[in-house]
Amino acid sequence: MFRRSIYKSAHDLRAMRPAGAATAAALAEARRLITPGATGLDLDVAAERIITALGGRSNFKLEPGYSHTLCVSVDDDVVHGIPNDRPFRPGAIVSVDGGAEVDGWNGDSAFTVVIPDPERPELVASRTRLSQVTEGSLWRGIAALATARRLNEVGDAIEEYIEDAGEYGILTEYVGHGIGRSMHEEPPVFNYRVDRRGAAVRPGLVVAIEPMVVAGSIETFIRDDGWTVTTSDGADSAHWEHSVAVHDDGIWVLTAEDGGAAGLAPFGIVPVAIP
Ligand code: MG
Ligand code: MG
Repeated sequence: MFRRSIYKSAHDLRAMRPAGAATAAALAEARRLITPGATGLDLDVAAERIITALGGRSNFKLEPGYSHTLCVSVDDDVVHGIPNDRPFRPGAIVSVDGGAEVDGWNGDSAFTVVIPDPERPELVASRTRLSQVTEGSLWRGIAALATARRLNEVGDAIEEYIEDAGEYGILTEYVGHGIGRSMHEEPPVFNYRVDRRGAAVRPGLVVAIEPMVVAGSIETFIRDDGWTVTTSDGADSAHWEHSVAVHDDGIWVLTAEDGGAAGLAPFGIVPVAIP
């Protein structure tokens, strides 16, 4: 059986940049639109418009049975939430996941925001910290990738960061993945510690790293819609994700507008544009 190598050529890595850029632009627009009263469907429509304008198409819509550009997961919904017409409420913690396919290559990224609520400052503070810790753990994992020999070092770094942050849990039922011609490819990327060492980290590896972090038990269930992954104890959740390329001269975050410069700076890592 023919099996494509998980390592891409320098040409392929360059070819993946437009998909990463379209993903970043679509998510930036979605983020801009998150306000009290806006809906997940508003974000979904806007994200698709951006992706189409940039010459791509939604890769989420290519998933069998899924008909939206984004997943929008609110409060105790962790991932795979279906965009709907319910207005966002003040204080909500909203995770948005999306991706674009451009010229047959894929991008995949996610972020979380907390909507301000002047009446509930403590709720907003705890949810904001959850999102910041999750984002921090993502960047810690990406920084680890820059120097890793094996992919398990990414999960080690993420889990260590989360442990240091306090009472949080990382979902283990859902993992990151290689990305390229398909949105989900080998190898799996564990966002937590595992025994196996994982794939060798060398030029040509492109992975989506995506810690899903909860302020409670990591036990989840799937809602009756067949998609939405929700915490069993109703705890808040956050999800951050980037698609990252390893190349001859360093790493480049394909789905960050600055290649990851700002996010990696605290870890002393400088991303290098794909040559
Ligand atoms: Mg994603
Ligand atoms: Mg993903």
